[in-house]
Amino acid sequence: MKIPSREKNFVNSFSILTGPIMERSKKISFIATTLQELYPDTHTFLEYQKDYELLFATILSAQATDTSVNEATSRLFKECPTLDDYTIDNQDLILSCIKKVGLGKVKCQYLIKTAKILKEKYHYVLPKDRKTLMSLPGVGFKTSGVVLAELYDEPYIPVDTHVYRVSHRLGIVNDKLSPEETEGALERLFKGHHMIHLHRQFILLGRNICLAKKEQCEICPFKDICKYYAKKKR
Ligand code: SF4
Repeated sequence: MKIPSREKNFVNSFSILTGPIMERSKKISFIATTLQELYPDTHTFLEYQKDYELLFATILSAQATDTSVNEATSRLFKECPTLDDYTIDNQDLILSCIKKVGLGKVKCQYLIKTAKILKEKYHYVLPKDRKTLMSLPGVGFKTSGVVLAELYDEPYIPVDTHVYRVSHRLGIVNDKLSPEETEGALERLFKGHHMIHLHRQFILLGRNICLAKKEQCEICPFKDICKYYAKKKR
């Protein structure tokens, strides 16, 4: 597998002796510092111009790649430039734009129903409260966290498949925690850090090094503190 140059350069110059046993607070600080050196600048993975567009893109991203969502929304947001365009009359058009992201019919209904509620109940203004956001069709715990953290810098570390895998492999959260509980645990552990930036950094680590099926432990700067790697070596 090709190692991205940023990771390769970083790993080559990595010389801090971490040791297998490191007290928890030092481990957290080491993880935050190292992620910052690996990925100093992060940006929202989903493309959008308007706040509700980020919500819609995040709804579409369930069980889909960000690339496929960005391809779909580049057409969708042009064809449907306002909330008023998300109607039953336009459902064939909406579906044709989003069908490649998967679960198109269900997600199309989520967008139309959510647009209707945003217009009629919230007067075109996106709610800033997580519980209210979660009452919208297609919006769960992770989606609401992504939207609030990305748009308003709310202190959330939404847990997607990458954040979940990486944090559990590193052994910084209890194995038995659900994604929601993992988010709470990470937010307590990394209190005071820039949460949405950390969320993106964990995702980048998961995409580039700590892959689901082919984790690249040999080039990973966290191998000396990683619970999963320690088990693998036994
Ligand atoms: S050492 Fe391996 S398992 Fe641990 S975080 Fe790095 S790539 Fe993932």
